[in-house]
Amino acid sequence: KVGPLGRLGQKLGLVSPPAVTAAVSDVSLDVFKGEVVGLVGESGCGKSTLGRMAAGILKPSSGDIYVDGQNIRQMNSRERKHAQLRIQMVFQDPYASLNPRLRVSDIVGESPLIHGLTTARELDSYVSAQLERAGLSATFRNRFAHQFSGGQRQRIGIARALAVQPDMLVCDEAVAALDVSIQAQILNLFMDLREELGLTYLFISHDLSVVEHFSDRVAIMYLGKIVESASAQDIFSKPNHPYTQALLAEIPRMGERKKVFTTIKGEIPSPLNPPSGCHFHPRCKYVMERCKTEVPKLKGIAINHISACHLNDMP
Ligand code: SF4
Ligand code: MG
Repeated sequence: KVGPLGRLGQKLGLVSPPAVTAAVSDVSLDVFKGEVVGLVGESGCGKSTLGRMAAGILKPSSGDIYVDGQNIRQMNSRERKHAQLRIQMVFQDPYASLNPRLRVSDIVGESPLIHGLTTARELDSYVSAQLERAGLSATFRNRFAHQFSGGQRQRIGIARALAVQPDMLVCDEAVAALDVSIQAQILNLFMDLREELGLTYLFISHDLSVVEHFSDRVAIMYLGKIVESASAQDIFSKPNHPYTQALLAEIPRMGERKKVFTTIKGEIPSPLNPPSGCHFHPRCKYVMERCKTEVPKLKGIAINHISACHLNDMP
């Protein structure tokens, strides 16, 4: 059982370097076993930071991460390693995340060998099985990563993640660098793997339309905070937060010929120095006086639907 996982507790605060890490604060997110949670927001809002913390790559400066209800801080190092193996990341850039000088067999086979999931003798067939699972030919084993197209490299990245037998994948913009037709193929692969292996996903994207057909639940992030969370159906049919509504307005609907960008007005402020009150207030078309000083709290507005907007207090 994976969930509840990543109850990131109160006040994650700023996380330490790398320098590009976005700030995340006061965020709590549960991901339950078998669930696909879409985490959506503009770049720099902290969604990658949150994903990396869930996968154990980044350590929160405060706050906690739970796997199977167990706080990873309280695990011994063997337990922690095991918990982290079970949560693997698939990154945005299949070019940058694969060493071009390594053979596919090394890229995919290294971790399972280190962690004793296979033996040197069985490595070839083990790697072949992972490649086939990711929709690649086993004969790719002996080739180098640079010999492949973007879509194929992303499949190699997926095979590498699957090779340690994870329960959960954190996909960080995993299709953002790919052509639209390839995007659909990779999304289909994720869905097939969910069926086949019962995988759980935290699916991070700046694009709501990418998560629409794939997520059970969607959390919307803005400048380091989750501002709304609900079932995918409710997010798309009854968006509550003005930021969610603005993001939705940017998705071209079926039958629409061109993208009519209503682009949310204003620049994205720095998450390191966010605006006072509701962080969204300088860009919100419903802004009221209290929005400039008072931070809105996440409140339940319907069953399994939370949103942080002062408009919900209005009679
Ligand atoms: Fe807009 Fe105010 Fe709601 Fe923030 S709290 S989203 S500024 S209406
Ligand atoms: Mg990012």
